[in-house]
Amino acid sequence: MKVIPITPRGYCPGVVNAINSVNKVLSDPSYPRPLYLLGMIVHNQFVVDYFKTKGIIVIDQINKTRLQMLDSIHQGTVIITAHGVGDVVIEKILDKGLTYVDATCKDVYKTHNLIKNYLASGYQIIYIGKENHPETEGVLSIDKNIILIESERDARLLEKTVKPIFVTNQTTFSIREIEPIIKVIKQQYPYAIISEEICNSTRIRQEAVINQNHDVDLCLVVGDIHSNNTINLVKLSRQYTHVKTVRIASSDDLKPELLKGVKTVSVTSGASTPTEVTAKVISVLENY
Ligand code: SF4
Repeated sequence: MKVIPITPRGYCPGVVNAINSVNKVLSDPSYPRPLYLLGMIVHNQFVVDYFKTKGIIVIDQINKTRLQMLDSIHQGTVIITAHGVGDVVIEKILDKGLTYVDATCKDVYKTHNLIKNYLASGYQIIYIGKENHPETEGVLSIDKNIILIESERDARLLEKTVKPIFVTNQTTFSIREIEPIIKVIKQQYPYAIISEEICNSTRIRQEAVINQNHDVDLCLVVGDIHSNNTINLVKLSRQYTHVKTVRIASSDDLKPELLKGVKTVSVTSGASTPTEVTAKVISVLENY
């Protein structure tokens, strides 16, 4: 089978930094034990399972915020994931006498700092993101008056306000989905200050899947169901290249029914998918 690996793909600098941070803590006995991950360090089960085998306890409770998850931790070191948290989480960690290591991506920190600066100047913040995603949760915990919107419809329903408006977004949002939302916001609030903050790694991976998916029968996106950037790669490929596109977690998902009649396949992966998982997919396909 002819395989077209889409580039760039896979690990972004923020994920590499997060994984390095955890490895550093693991190898340094001066960090108090036990070691806890507050959520999935990055949205990939293989990465999380690997750290579990090293003795790290992963606290990932559906329907609980990072703040609530801390209730179950009484000693040791808490590792903050790449998605970031609000200051209230850090304050609670310190109040409980715990040690923490911050693996927040610098691109996420940039949006936090922008929001804090505009809040201090009296702006109403509008945040474009996905509800219940940890990055969104971290941002919303900065201030209870931040308004979350997910769609053009949400943007149309925004109420008039006399306050100046500042708009920013989740770093892994879709490059094509955000444009119409921003357009609606500009119609509602012509004087809004808009800082589009899709990170560079997300942007170039999304553009690559749109631009490199030529003359293929199937596009495979290797990544975890929880990974927002993986899901966006699937959506963009389907919508803008019209190629049949399927998310798979690993080579175990390469079933004969999926590959039936396929002569050429393109492969990309989410920013949190381990390189070896994607390499195995490519290798199995090349030998298929
Ligand atoms: S996808 Fe972007 S924001 Fe998220 S961890 Fe990677 S570099 Fe950071």
